Amino acid sequence: MNEITLAPLPYADDALAPTVSAKTISFHYGKHHAGYVKALNGLIAGTKYEGMSLDAIVVASRDAGDTAVFNNAAQAWNHDFYWNSLAPAGKGGEPSAGLLAAVNASFGSLDACKAALVDAAVKRFGSGWAWLVARDGRLAVESTANADTPAGRTGVKPLLVVDVWEHAYYLDWQNARASYAKAVVDGHLDWASASRRFA
Ligand code: MN
Repeated sequence: MNEITLAPLPYADDALAPTVSAKTISFHYGKHHAGYVKALNGLIAGTKYEGMSLDAIVVASRDAGDTAVFNNAAQAWNHDFYWNSLAPAGKGGEPSAGLLAAVNASFGSLDACKAALVDAAVKRFGSGWAWLVARDGRLAVESTANADTPAGRTGVKPLLVVDVWEHAYYLDWQNARASYAKAVVDGHLDWASASRRFA
């Protein structure tokens, strides 16, 4: 068996409360994320994708235009990246000197970078993701729709992501996506892990 596995959460299910409650985690991780992994394993069984790493499946299914495989693989990848983009309050650390220098060069300040991320999260129409990425030596904020992801794109290194599908925030924040995004960006981004990815 070469199944794609659901990685454990990097913290307890109540570690992000009240911004992201244990109840949201129970559905978001336990049902949505797990569901993408399960669907992906069903789709790739007996195909050329079976036995590939998740990273490789994202790239190969995108290149091949295999939409169902790509959507589920990308969502499995995006969610794993999302959980690892977040940290309990006070545990996310600070950007490394190198990352902070890049933030200042690209956005002017860390606060401006955070504001751009919140803005991208708020303005993404419908479901999607707001990303901080390194692209050709510069940092940029961008958003993607639905399952789309910068993962595996040449020259792009994802650093942090905020999930802005309604399932990410509706139980805790209802329609107040901006409040959720601001609470995540101001209080729960894992700058230490972003610094390791950037290095
Ligand atoms: Mn999600």
